[in-house]
Amino acid sequence: MSRIDFARIAADLRRLNGGTVHEQEPMGRHTSYRIGGPARVLVEAASEDGVVRTLEWLKDRGIPFLILGQGTNVLVSDQGVEAVVLSTVHGLKDVAIRGGTMDAGSGVLLTKLSHLAARAGLGGFEFAISIPGTLGGALVMNAGAHGSAMVEVVRSVRVWDPLTGVRTIPATEAEFEYRQSRFQHTPWIALAAMIELYPRDPDEIRDAMHRFMAHRKSTQPVGAQSAGSVFKNPSPLYAGRLIEEIGAKGWRVGDAEVSRVHANFILNLGQAKANDVLGLMRRIRCAVYQRYHVILRPEVRWIGPGEGGASATWENLWYEEGTGLTEPCE
Ligand SMILES: Cc1cc2nc3c(=O)[nH]c(=O)nc-3n(C[C@H](O)[C@H](O)[C@H](O)COP(=O)(O)OP(=O)(O)OC[C@H]3O[C@@H](n4cnc5c(N)ncnc54)[C@H](O)[C@@H]3O)c2cc1C
Repeated sequence: MSRIDFARIAADLRRLNGGTVHEQEPMGRHTSYRIGGPARVLVEAASEDGVVRTLEWLKDRGIPFLILGQGTNVLVSDQGVEAVVLSTVHGLKDVAIRGGTMDAGSGVLLTKLSHLAARAGLGGFEFAISIPGTLGGALVMNAGAHGSAMVEVVRSVRVWDPLTGVRTIPATEAEFEYRQSRFQHTPWIALAAMIELYPRDPDEIRDAMHRFMAHRKSTQPVGAQSAGSVFKNPSPLYAGRLIEEIGAKGWRVGDAEVSRVHANFILNLGQAKANDVLGLMRRIRCAVYQRYHVILRPEVRWIGPGEGGASATWENLWYEEGTGLTEPCE
């Protein structure tokens, strides 16, 4: 039994009116993996104002919370989430294009932003056409593809900071690196971002977007239930290649399977549990370490119990299981 009275919190949040409030909401409905036990409370934020009001309210009461975009880069525990999950994908959808810049809310999908940029004759955002998820999730992950990444186009981010409230930070403060940003270890919430692009012929933009989509279709299991690449590339190597070389394509635990198309994708074949995906990740991680002495770091973000509380990080998880960061094999 939870010590926190989530039923009461849900009732209070309904009165606060920051968005639609659900109780015991299956997280599988909100993730591309279609995996995850229930969130005690999930709020579908209606607007930026609703998000900020809800965040301030939760902070003042010390109630654990976490933010979810489209759930395309997370693996949620089968036990669910002992926290209030705040989903941005239904609100925070404003977009304004002025000259060469796009101001967009963090709940806007990257694919939508790519199309809007193309229509406005703005280049630089073509790479994002093939990346699922929201702008907010892309900022947190410094998402990228086809040789480009968010770091190249983001000029500033409007954040909610529990210490100072809402403020705008220059992109440099977000400390973007390969699939990494300050958002991953700072309790900041991305509300919106300013993206700077350049004038480009709309036909050229669309050609580039078509090429990127075609490339994706020929190299990835498009349409399958996954969270994209499970491990980060251990530069200068490619995780997918290492995993393929150990013969892991087709490995299976329960209903989770290493994709036969792209070895860095683990698929939910239908009824997979988070533990099945974790089981495969452990097996892969150990086999790659034994063969190459390379430690694969997860790109997908773990949401579930662990040392860090409701939103334990992968590092917490490995640590908790006694494997330690330098001991990838149990
Ligand atoms: C088929 C497939 C292909 C993919 N291909 C790529 C690819 O080519 N390149 C790539 O980089 N990624 C790829 N991904 C991963 C994923 O699409 C990106 O990481 C995406 O940016 C995640 O966005 P999201 O809205 O789904 O984030 P979520 O999965 O909802 O969240 C990701 C993390 O960000 C946090 N978060 C979300 N929104 C906010 C916010 N507003 N403020 C603060 N924290 C927030 C969450 O708490 C979580 O820790 C792929 C995924 C799939 C399923």
